[in-house]
Amino acid sequence: MPRDDAFRKVMKTVTRVREPGAKPEEDLKSMDRYICDLCHGIREREEMIQCGFCGRWICRKNCWEEELKACESCSGLILLAKDETERDDSS
Ligand SMILES: [Zn+2]
Ligand SMILES: [Zn+2]
Repeated sequence: MPRDDAFRKVMKTVTRVREPGAKPEEDLKSMDRYICDLCHGIREREEMIQCGFCGRWICRKNCWEEELKACESCSGLILLAKDETERDDSS
């Protein structure tokens, strides 16, 4: 149940980089390739995933935390928020 609180906390802390549904940044030199917003690697469209928290388009391989369903940048904030929420609960 504290999961929801943590989620809301994260949404408040995260800076939205892109709007949901916005397209990833295209690599201008190659066709159908996109640039990861975190590691700036050039990836195929299928390798890209949009983080639901910050809206960044990132590559699954390097920058996606499958367990948290968030990008690496947001996953740090999620863990922090979870920690805080759990501490609030026990006090
Ligand atoms: Zn990446
Ligand atoms: Zn993110």
